[in-house]
Amino acid sequence: MARVLVVEDDQFVRSALIRHLTEASHTVRSVGTALEALREVAHLGFDVVILDLGLPDLDGAEALKMLRGITQVPVIIATARDDEAEIVRLLNDGADDYLVKPFSVEHLSARMAAVLRRAGTGAGTGAGTGAGAERAIRAGGLVIDPLRRQAELDGRALDLTRREFDLLAFLAQRPGVVVPRRELLAEVWQQSYGDDQTIDVHLSWLRRKLGETAANPRYLHTLRGVGVKLEPPRE
Ligand code: CA
Repeated sequence: MARVLVVEDDQFVRSALIRHLTEASHTVRSVGTALEALREVAHLGFDVVILDLGLPDLDGAEALKMLRGITQVPVIIATARDDEAEIVRLLNDGADDYLVKPFSVEHLSARMAAVLRRAGTGAGTGAGTGAGAERAIRAGGLVIDPLRRQAELDGRALDLTRREFDLLAFLAQRPGVVVPRRELLAEVWQQSYGDDQTIDVHLSWLRRKLGETAANPRYLHTLRGVGVKLEPPRE
């Protein structure tokens, strides 16, 4: 399973991609412009970006160049234009692969798997070790190093279990974003269903280690019936 950013302005194509990728247990975020895509990759970690070339704000080649300016995340170009010269140019400019629309889900899955394999972000391994290796995640006084699996709060090392670490790192990569419980179960526990108590119990352990409680949250905020978000306190 991978964290996928879909950059596509066509609502119909976008919905179809989101549906198919989610069914294949990937975590998907989607945007409709190149500038939104740049903002997303600057703030969140992705394993692969699927980039439509015909976006309303920036030319595809320009969008790719700007993306490459801030991230080495694998990029698969999705283009309606079967223009060999342009595809070759984009591959030289840092695209990892391409698909000509309309493409099948099977085709997309195969290309994604190949790109992820090359980048060393195999299914379920979490932190990438290849070109997409993640740097430390920072949120307020929290610093999380996904490669060393170490976390600290206000300069003090946190002694976390594997699950607590995964939960904290997953939320910290999306500061301010409410993550639905179903997504947490899928991403942190790798379960497609389960009982809410599992999450609550780990959250309460994690809170204790962060020196906060559900009644007096600092970083971890539970939205009843919706999900959980990590947001640094405003000092
Ligand atoms: Ca388009």
